[in-house]
Amino acid sequence: MIQGDRVQEFDLTVIGDGMAGTAAVLFALNRGLSVAWAGTGNPLSLASGCLDFLACHPLSARKTWTDPWAAVEALTRDLPAHPYARLRREEIEAAWDETLKCLNQGGLPYFRRPEKNIEVLTPMGNLRPTYALPETMRKGMEALEKGRPCLILKIEGLKGFSSQWLVEGLKERGWAVRAERVDFPGLEGRRDLLPEHLAQALITTQNRTRLVERIQPLIKGVEMVGLPAVLDLYRHKETVAELEDRLGLPLFEIPTLPPSLPGLRLRQVFERHFKKTGACTLFPYRVIGMEKKGAVGFQVHFKEDAVKGPRSRGVVLAGGRFFGGGLMAERKAIREPLLGLPVHQPLTREGWHQRDYFDRTGHPVNRAGLLTDDHFRPLDAQGNPAFETLFAAGSILAHQDWKREKSGSGLALATAYKAVQSFIERIK
Ligand SMILES: Cc1cc2nc3c(=O)[nH]c(=O)nc-3n(C[C@H](O)[C@H](O)[C@H](O)COP(=O)(O)OP(=O)(O)OC[C@H]3O[C@@H](n4cnc5c(N)ncnc54)[C@H](O)[C@@H]3O)c2cc1C
Repeated sequence: MIQGDRVQEFDLTVIGDGMAGTAAVLFALNRGLSVAWAGTGNPLSLASGCLDFLACHPLSARKTWTDPWAAVEALTRDLPAHPYARLRREEIEAAWDETLKCLNQGGLPYFRRPEKNIEVLTPMGNLRPTYALPETMRKGMEALEKGRPCLILKIEGLKGFSSQWLVEGLKERGWAVRAERVDFPGLEGRRDLLPEHLAQALITTQNRTRLVERIQPLIKGVEMVGLPAVLDLYRHKETVAELEDRLGLPLFEIPTLPPSLPGLRLRQVFERHFKKTGACTLFPYRVIGMEKKGAVGFQVHFKEDAVKGPRSRGVVLAGGRFFGGGLMAERKAIREPLLGLPVHQPLTREGWHQRDYFDRTGHPVNRAGLLTDDHFRPLDAQGNPAFETLFAAGSILAHQDWKREKSGSGLALATAYKAVQSFIERIK
């Protein structure tokens, strides 16, 4: 991928490099479109690497669903304005299949049971529902389901991963687990370590050998070993296989807090796929404005004056919410910063939050966002599509609360899929 220093023309510009933007690029490239991709954040590194579909609805009842499809049905019935309510089952399925196929072919296989959510361990020792797991985490899920005795490794100096909490939480559930501390080879005595540091250390054969030697005396009486997700950024499959072979026991990874290696692996596999197509140009810049060019088409502008923004026939807005900058919370109102599109939101700022911060239904501000038609085209003040070929996908959309619903990735993938399909229908 190259960065642009002159006006280039594309079929589609995708603004945002989170799950929604990345998925929109994938679906567009797979359909032969040329894509300009603008993004500054690499937010995938924040995500755990587990891909959620939909697990919680209604939030007021704290109902958790095993069958995500049944959850979508109930949610669509109860919340007809929710983005999932604009999607057919075939579209959601196709979005998942195409994404997981790309990851699988890119050497990052995921496990799922198509009709079921799965319980995954969190770094805090809780279990939470998700839909698709990196293969490196799958054995942990199976060990949990079968109650097999496990050793959980505590890596000295690694930030945000408490094997003690984890083990306490799991013991309460009757799982025979114990925790042991290990000094990570090559990083002894270091503090504030991040997963990337550990992955880096494991590149050398000498460190892998020393890690095996340190784990070996600890494995008596256990059938599996779990450790934070630190087993290599690029060669994780090979690293896991090698360590399992030398230990003579299955290994599994447990999600960590950000920055997360499984999240970075996702980004790396997608980028490699995009590069192979040769039709994607990454602009690692923030888009600060956009204008309509001619009957069909847009020109975007970057903060960096010297870099000419691309021109394209369509745009997908996938800039996320307040953290990413897709929406801006100002003193009196929430604003969409690029085109000034109307944002669905409470009438006044007083209505943004519930009185109780921990209110189980979440806060109205979490459901603020762009309203769209059935093709995911943002609406203007009159309720009509603002532009024929402008689309929105992911968490920028109104009427969803992905964090509480546990729907982050699923919603991003499915809405990006529909946005790209809708664009193609319009330019045929
Ligand atoms: C800490 C954390 C943990 C998570 N864990 C999970 C999980 O376990 N499972 C799961 O399914 N989901 C998880 N998610 C959610 C998921 O990864 C996505 O954040 C969510 O699905 C929404 O994605 P998005 O692409 O809509 O927006 P975002 O993820 O917010 O991405 C938007 C991106 O667009 C960029 N951007 C915005 N405006 C512009 C502009 N004008 N020009 C250029 N770039 C711009 C932003 O900088 C940002 O990088 C997690 C998210 C976070 C933050």
